Amino acid sequence: MNEQGLSEKEIFSYLEDVKSEDTDYYRVLSSMCTQPHRIAVEAHRLFIEANLGDLGLFAGAYRLEKEVIQMLGELLHFQYVEIPSGESCKSSVCGYLTTGGTESNIQAIRSMKNLVTEGGKRAGDVLNIVVPESAHFSFDKVANMMGIEVKRALLDSEFRVDIESVESLIDANTIGLVGIAGNTEFGQVDPIEELSKLALENELFLHVDAAFGGFVIPFLEKPYFFDFKVPGVTSIAIDPHKMGLSTIPSGALLFKSPFFMDSLKVNTPYLTTKSQFTLTGTRSGASAAATYAVMKYLGREGYRRNVQYCMQLTAKLVKEARELGFEPLIEPVMNVVALRVPNPDLVREQLLTKFSWNVSITRSPRSLRLVLMPHNTAHDIEEFLQDLRKITAEL
Ligand SMILES: *Cc1c(COP(=O)(O)O)cnc(C)c1O
Repeated sequence: MNEQGLSEKEIFSYLEDVKSEDTDYYRVLSSMCTQPHRIAVEAHRLFIEANLGDLGLFAGAYRLEKEVIQMLGELLHFQYVEIPSGESCKSSVCGYLTTGGTESNIQAIRSMKNLVTEGGKRAGDVLNIVVPESAHFSFDKVANMMGIEVKRALLDSEFRVDIESVESLIDANTIGLVGIAGNTEFGQVDPIEELSKLALENELFLHVDAAFGGFVIPFLEKPYFFDFKVPGVTSIAIDPHKMGLSTIPSGALLFKSPFFMDSLKVNTPYLTTKSQFTLTGTRSGASAAATYAVMKYLGREGYRRNVQYCMQLTAKLVKEARELGFEPLIEPVMNVVALRVPNPDLVREQLLTKFSWNVSITRSPRSLRLVLMPHNTAHDIEEFLQDLRKITAEL
């Protein structure tokens, strides 16, 4: 570190240079994040110093967080039940703003574990959860951190979790199931209603990872049952910083009732509040303000338009790719496309080096994975397909 401070000018000229090394979202077809909405950015700036780790000091930011949780609860069909004794929240929906899907997934599983092992119960048992093979890598972190075994169920031919495979993996040490509503690689939605049946029959928790799909599925033409409407669902992860168009870091974890969230509490001796149920301590109030602002500004209508736009791009991409002879692995459910191309790893590399397109690859089978986000345009897609055609013609 330098002994004397540098001038503002020196620092900002350096920052601008460095920023040019970042990829701006133009030509990014691999990310589930996008340029945040202007309104979210302004609200974020207004609450830049707010720390939701110490709720008593930031009552305004905390109010915004609660309003966001309420709006997300409504979006995800929570059942309203007045709960007089609930400490973390008064009505049945409850939750908090996390740093993203990873933290939400970790905390959902931590709550399952805490409830099952309360008072020293089941000491010595290696507990497990059953997740789809398509689960996000955050579940590897769960396994590693919590000493829980993460069992992976097979997928069916449409990349949905296979219910029989899930059932066959449930044993006496299973504490919960995970379903994905909008999986990261294929954008597919697991059969949440069937998972719910299994969860209820076996008295298991059911966490739905809708980190990406939470701001997509409610606005699709085709209905999917994936949220608190499904009786066995106990928690949901939904990320405002993906299709919610909020700023990073904005994730959210919602629980069906305060019972689950209370299991996460630890005492906080020197803060304005007595306990804390979050994973991180100090956390951003700016995220709450940004998410509140963009949700209020867009409303359901705005998000519906956003999803329609991305789905139109998706349909255009699939149609024109087919004309070039490239088939998708599945008919896209949301704005994620897995495209069968010859030698996908090489194609990916050449798309980047020759034409600056950022795309990614699905693990199994290997295919070109494209996410059509609000920053992409119809013109981009035409250019992309021309470049893809040039590259594959030379292979
Ligand atoms: C993006 C994603 C995550 C991880 O979210 P982060 O915000 O990156 O922590 C988890 N699950 C799914 C399905 C996702 O798409």
